[in-house]
Parts: sequence; structure tokens; C-alpha cells
Amino acid sequence: MPELPEVETIKRGLAKNIIGKKIIGFDSDWQKMINLPLPRYKRTITGKKIIGVERRAKMLIIGLSDDWRLWFHLKLTGQLVFSGKNKKVVGGHPIKEGFEADPNRFTHATFDFSDGSHLFFNDVRKFGWVRLYKKAELENKLAAMKLGPEPLDKNFTLDAFKQILKKKPNNKIKVFLMDPQNLVGLGNIYSDEVCFFARVRPDRTVKSLKDGEIKLLFNGIKKILPEAIKYEGTSFSNYVNALGEAGAYTKKLRIYQRYGQKCLGCPGQVKRLKLGGRTSSYCPSCQQ
Ligand SMILES: [Zn+2]
Repeated sequence: MPELPEVETIKRGLAKNIIGKKIIGFDSDWQKMINLPLPRYKRTITGKKIIGVERRAKMLIIGLSDDWRLWFHLKLTGQLVFSGKNKKVVGGHPIKEGFEADPNRFTHATFDFSDGSHLFFNDVRKFGWVRLYKKAELENKLAAMKLGPEPLDKNFTLDAFKQILKKKPNNKIKVFLMDPQNLVGLGNIYSDEVCFFARVRPDRTVKSLKDGEIKLLFNGIKKILPEAIKYEGTSFSNYVNALGEAGAYTKKLRIYQRYGQKCLGCPGQVKRLKLGGRTSSYCPSCQQ
């Protein structure tokens, strides 16, 4: 699943291309992907103009005229493709080889724009969704999720981080970092990277962290996420950036999925452990 830097990359790619466009048609062959009966969804969306593209946590929100919002989650295999006259912008997971044409058999929602361009939502496993809500309704839905702060917000300070840590003293630090009710946007990749940066074992409890370690974790979050955005995210199993290319941050990863290999910080070997159902890589000598 794409994490904050990957979704932010998709957001930026789409924002450059779809803002200002007018929707003249919509279709979907997968009712579970949308939250209204298809005829009503079609009727509501037709004629609306795209006024903005935003990210919240790992979700994308496309602003429409008349206070409507399209709320996307790409989940495990979702992909968004903007297809214009001489331009194609791909974001999210790449589609199976041989099905790169758009639309293809994995296209489950299509937005048609008045200038002849389209936005396709492709999804092999069909867990992704695109829900249509009025702005206020969406705000209520988001509030009900009780999401923690955006880690790159100015308001997310070291003090704010310490306050949140205090609420979950018995959490393992990696589990804590991946819980969107604590802070949003970090999944398996960036929680591993942040722990390695801070030289903290991912299975340490929150209450065992010393002040210096908390500061390093915080600095790691503030440094690694923007760097990953700069490199347009990480291409893990099957993620591509807005141009359909593998995210270049893959080459910058220091610890994620490196178990069994030599550590980049010492002569030792990277180990793995299971935490919250995910495999975490860490170095037993660099991380205490
Ligand atoms: Zn090491």
C-alpha cells in the first residue's frame, strides 16, 4: 500500500493535470468501488468541475464544484491513470503486464472530461474505492476516523510527538508509528527507515524510549518523508510514480526489506522480526 510519500507524489502528478477540467461522464462496473447507486453517482458528478487535489494520510481527495468531494483509497492494488491527448500520468500500483492500455479489464471506474481526456481507476484486486460526498459529509467521515496529525505539518512538533507517545506507553515503537490514530502516513517502509535512523529497535516499547531517542525518531520522520517525496516515493512490490516510473527512493532505502543482507551502518547482518503482522528489518548492532 502506498505510504505518505507515494500518495503525495500521485497527488502532485494529478494536480498538475486535472485541475480545471469538467466532468462530462462517469462509469463503473464495480458497485463496491463507489458509495452511491451508479445512476445517482453519474447524475451527481456530471457537469462538476475539478477544483483541487489534496492528500489526507494515505488517501486522495479531489475537490469538485458545488462542494462535492471525490475520496479515493488505492488500497493494495489501485492505480490512477490520467490519459490526455499526448499525455499519460500514472500513479499508484502498476497494472499486470500486458494490460497497460487504458481502459483495460482492470479499469473499474472512468471519469470523462470535456476536453476528451479521462481519469481511469484500475484495480486488479478491487479493494480500492472512490466515494462521493458533500464536503461537510466527508469532513465528518474523516473526523470519525480519529486520524492523528500529518507528520509534515508545522503543528507536528517534538512536543506534540511526545504528547502522543505518552498515550501509548506499552506500544512497540514500530506499531505505534504505523497506527494512523497516532500520526498518519507511515507504513511498513517508513517506520522501518525511521527506527533505523534513530538507532532504535522497532520492537522497543514506547515507555522505554529515552529523550534523545524520541528526538531522533522525530528528526527521522521530518527528514525521511520529505526526502522520499523528493525522490517520488519508493517502488516496492508494485508502486509507480505519477509518470509510471518506479519511485527513485528505492535506491535510498537504508534498512527496509534488507534482512539477510549486510547492514549499511556496520559490518553486521540485517535481521528481521514480525510486528503487528508485518515483517520488519533491523540491525541488532546499530539499533538498541
Ligand atoms: Zn548495523
